[in-house]
Amino acid sequence: MRRLVILGGGESGVGTALLGKAKGYEVFVSDNGKIKKTYRDVLLNNEIEFEDGQHTESKILSADIVMKSPGIPDKVTLVEKVRETGIKVVSEIEFASNYTDATLVAITGSNGKTTTATLTHHLLKQELDTGLAGNIGDSFAKQILEKNHQNYVLEVSSFQLDDIHRFKPKVAILTNITPDHLDRYDYKFESYIASKFRIVENQNKDDYFIYDADDEVISIWLETNQIQSKKLPFSLTKVVEEGAYLDDKKIIITIDNNKIIMPTENITLEGKHNIKNAMAASTVAHLLKIRKQTIRESLENFQGVEHRLEHVLRINKVQYINDSKATNVNATYFALESMDAPTVWIVGGVDKGNDYNELFPFVNEKVKAIICLGVDNKKLFEAFGNMVDIIVETQYMSEAVKIAYKVANAGDNVLLSPACASFDLFENYEDRGRQFKNAVRNL
Ligand code: ADP
Repeated sequence: MRRLVILGGGESGVGTALLGKAKGYEVFVSDNGKIKKTYRDVLLNNEIEFEDGQHTESKILSADIVMKSPGIPDKVTLVEKVRETGIKVVSEIEFASNYTDATLVAITGSNGKTTTATLTHHLLKQELDTGLAGNIGDSFAKQILEKNHQNYVLEVSSFQLDDIHRFKPKVAILTNITPDHLDRYDYKFESYIASKFRIVENQNKDDYFIYDADDEVISIWLETNQIQSKKLPFSLTKVVEEGAYLDDKKIIITIDNNKIIMPTENITLEGKHNIKNAMAASTVAHLLKIRKQTIRESLENFQGVEHRLEHVLRINKVQYINDSKATNVNATYFALESMDAPTVWIVGGVDKGNDYNELFPFVNEKVKAIICLGVDNKKLFEAFGNMVDIIVETQYMSEAVKIAYKVANAGDNVLLSPACASFDLFENYEDRGRQFKNAVRNL
């Protein structure tokens, strides 16, 4: 019996354990931290051997194959030992994709993965049997075992791509590339870029690569590297023959001389970045032969994803917007760009080496007050102190929202778009977003 060892007992680890067991592996799950009760119970009920709070080397290095959960860095000594021993290391999407013939649409990029994946799923599922997996909801492995959809939309992080071997999506989407997670790539931007492009490495000429042609990092990479798949660029600024572009207020999508035109006026999602996301998702839908009318209606009734420019409430004609998922400058750039009224901006948290320069024009033009919400706000004061009349700091969400309420006038927006990670004051970005929404509701 082949031995499958799984490092990490979270969603992807436990899903892989179930699939591995069903496929005849002897399975062992090892997690250095504590395995959550829900996952423990699944492992116990399915008689899968596991340990937590430790890694027992003898039980791990005896593996034929190791599935490493995406959260575990390569630098962990045990992972280094596994690789030195010559054991094959795979990610969850690699392992799971061996057990399905479904059509795979894989989406990666620095920002916009979840939005684009959720929207693509929303478009496809109207007419095709389609699952949504990857970093969202139930793991891909578990869904292959239990659901067996004919199509999957997968949100794929670079960590998942780092351990692929044969993973071959029919359609790959690259939303954009900006510096992020560089701590996991020896602070080398090139390594992070290379990791993202692994999404196309097993594609051939019958597969498709949909990407943002306005993104310089992507364009430069494509100039110097060959890929097999058929390219379908999307662009806000230039006309493309194949792929998608914007003509006035219409998205034009052409694939093999087959054109569809989508008006953008009624798309519920706001902001230029979301036009890009809509272009990418609609290109997939057109490719997989979803009817034009269905694509149009689905773009119009898609309600967006929580914590991404989410409209919370309007109080005294002030709109409160939760963009807690903006954990880097690029995401906040698009949030500020999409503001159409004077904005009270709540920003801050754990700075990942941010360069705020590109935000200056928007701050000058649209931001009337800044509320810094982090443990250390020095850099924000230095960057923006001279740009706005009001800049204050606090370490409590409730207080940040109360200050915003006082400062905002009828017609203004209050925007939480932190450009930073949340770990200094919150459990995660979801916790931060929920605290914001609760504070707004309690006003
Ligand atoms: P990811 O899953 O890649 O983190 P999300 O869809 O969760 O992406 O969005 C993360 C943040 O980035 C949100 O603040 C969102 O408004 C913003 N965003 C969404 N799409 C894009 C895009 N195409 N380019 C830049 N920022 C985006």
